[in-house]
Amino acid sequence: MKTDYRGIGMTSQRTRDRLVTRLQERGIKNNEVLSVIREMPRHLFVDEALASRAYEDTALPIGHGQTISQPYIVAKMTEILLEDGPRQKILEVGTGSGYQTAVLSKLVERVYSVERISPLQNQARERFYQLKLNNIKLKHSDGNWGWEWYAPYDGIIVTCAPEHIPLELLKQLAPGGRLVIPVGTSQGQSLRVIDRQGDRYEETELDPVSFVPLLSGQI
Ligand code: SAH
Repeated sequence: MKTDYRGIGMTSQRTRDRLVTRLQERGIKNNEVLSVIREMPRHLFVDEALASRAYEDTALPIGHGQTISQPYIVAKMTEILLEDGPRQKILEVGTGSGYQTAVLSKLVERVYSVERISPLQNQARERFYQLKLNNIKLKHSDGNWGWEWYAPYDGIIVTCAPEHIPLELLKQLAPGGRLVIPVGTSQGQSLRVIDRQGDRYEETELDPVSFVPLLSGQI
C-alpha cells in the first residue's frame, strides 16, 4: 500500500480518487480495499488503447473474449472475502488481466491464481513483475480442479461463472474458509458466498451479477 506509482503518470490521482468516491457511494466500506484500489494502476492491466478508460467503473475487453472485471465488483468481492478475516492464503480462479489478483496481493499474505488461457496468464505475470508483486503464484490450468497442491485455502474467489459450484473448490476450502463465486448462466447469475464450518457448508445468495462463463479445459 506504500508503493508510489506516481512516476508511471498516465492517469492523474484525481481520476483514481473519483473512482474510489464512486465505489464508496455504491456501498464499499472497507478502507484497506479502497486504499489499495486508489493506488493500483489499473491502466497497466488493459491495452494501451483503453488506458484512458481504465478508471471508469466498468469492465473492459482484454482479448480472447474475456474482460477485466468492473472495479466495483472487484472491490465488493474482495470486501466480502476479507470480511471475517484474517485470510492469508487465497486461491483465485480466472487470473485474466491480473487486476483482481494484484488487489488481493496487497491485502493477504499469498495469492494462488489459475488461468486457462496461456497468453493472458503470461501478460499478467509480466505485470506482477513490473509492479514488484512477489507474493503471487500462477498456474496454467482448468480452475474446475482448483489447485490442490497448496490447498486448503482460507479464501477462494472465482472471477468467471460456472453453472454449478465445482466440488473441488469446496473441498479445497479450509474449515472457517470462505468461497466467493458467481453462479449461473448467461441468462442469469448471482453472487454466492459459501462459508465452511468443519464439514458444513453454508451458502448465501447475494446480488445478480454478470461474469464471463467458467469454461472447461485449457488453451
Ligand atoms: N479477475 C480477472 C477476470 C478476468 S475474466 C480480471 O479482472 O481481469 C475471467 C477469466 O476467467 C478469464 O480470463 C477466463 O479465461 C478465465 N477462466 C474461465 N474459465 C476458467 C477455468 N475453468 N479455469 C481458469 N480460468 C478460467
